[in-house]
Amino acid sequence: MKKIIISSCIPFFLLTACMEQEVTKKDVEIHNDVGDKVGTITVEEEADGVKLDFKMDGLPPGEHGVHIHEKGNCDAPEFKTAGNHFNPDQKPHGLLHPEGAHAGDLPNIIVEDDGKFEGSLTAPGVTMKEGKMSLMKRMEGSSIVITNKPDDGMTQPSGDSGKRIACGIISKNKQEQEKEGESGKEGQNKPGKED
Ligand SMILES: [Zn+2]
Repeated sequence: MKKIIISSCIPFFLLTACMEQEVTKKDVEIHNDVGDKVGTITVEEEADGVKLDFKMDGLPPGEHGVHIHEKGNCDAPEFKTAGNHFNPDQKPHGLLHPEGAHAGDLPNIIVEDDGKFEGSLTAPGVTMKEGKMSLMKRMEGSSIVITNKPDDGMTQPSGDSGKRIACGIISKNKQEQEKEGESGKEGQNKPGKED
């Protein structure tokens, strides 16, 4: 078995090892305001952004807003600790806004009468890798929040999308954080590390 122990990321020689420690796919468990699991969203780095693959079961039927939020916290029942929509570029809210949108703004989902929704959306402006647009910021992460009303794509600051009804955290697990902690000490403040 290949064993990789590295203390810092050195390009050329250890590029493969550096890439392996980066997490580019994650299953995010979504829970509602009473703590019941209502599905899993698999988030995955792709060439054109981050794909969110929904397998939901147990949401209220109808159209709902979905947004990536700036903080990796999901404290029920209101999920306010998730913070605002993920918006490192400080743009106005809304996929229909001429100067928008937040990087975390996504199209609405339509949940079937049986509470299920399966489908995928892509967030084009974000990444699982390091950098300003990263959803996996060191020790902090981000979150996905589902709201009881659809996002109208225009109203500030969050599309009149109503109450937050379910939430899931996108972040590295403890093991991944420790691994990164070891190798990230030197590189932590170095800007512009690609890949
Ligand atoms: Zn927004």
